[in-house]
Amino acid sequence: MSEYYNPHRGEAWNYGGDQWKLSRSKIDLFLGCPRCFYIDNKLGTKRPPGYPFTLNSAVDHLLKQEFDIHRAKGEQHPLQKEYGIDVRPAAHDELDEWRRNFGGVKHLHEATGMLVTGAIDDLWINKDDEYIVVDYKATAKEEAVTELDKEWQDGYKRQMEVYQWLLRQNGLKVSNTGYFVYCTGKLDREAFDKRIDFDVNLISYQGDDAWVEDTLKRIKACLESEEIPDSGEECDHCAFWNARAGYEK
Ligand code: SF4
Repeated sequence: MSEYYNPHRGEAWNYGGDQWKLSRSKIDLFLGCPRCFYIDNKLGTKRPPGYPFTLNSAVDHLLKQEFDIHRAKGEQHPLQKEYGIDVRPAAHDELDEWRRNFGGVKHLHEATGMLVTGAIDDLWINKDDEYIVVDYKATAKEEAVTELDKEWQDGYKRQMEVYQWLLRQNGLKVSNTGYFVYCTGKLDREAFDKRIDFDVNLISYQGDDAWVEDTLKRIKACLESEEIPDSGEECDHCAFWNARAGYEK
């Protein structure tokens, strides 16, 4: 086991503990594999962490700073002008907290008693005073990403919809239209020369948060159950283990 993985979590951080909360990434974990979600949140054995994407974090950080300059001036960012959309970065007293990784937008969901959270990247506002959820994405590919047409990008759409839902529960008027600021590192330069250039594309998405309420109820039922649920279909790790043991589950 690597030095980066400590599987045991303190009781307070498990379901039922006073530090436990349901982040939007946990919601996605439940949808991907209820078994891993249950082992992690109810039984307290942490799922191994993914790699830290430090270059993506750097792009996020710089984008936030850039949009903040225009937010402070109450003006449009050049990207918003380029795409001809009548929106500007929104100023809101709680924005810093809503963008903080270990803070985020919070809502205590009455029907389940679960505290739901998610940290947004940015918030814009349109001419009808509707708030717009914005998420920054960074990658590197031959071709710039200009649409969300791949199945693996469905998680990005759900992420956007959870944020829209959370902000609505906080009393904000939120547009169904959200935007991804998609930065694609270009691979067609002759040499690195100490820099990466990016194509930056704005991708709009019409969110529909109707699935969130029902999913929260299913999550609650899962956490209250004494039975460990089955594995999801997309992850091969349990299949790998079960294959070794000579049986399938
Ligand atoms: S199938 Fe994958 S995600 Fe699910 S419990 Fe097994 S290892 Fe975890």
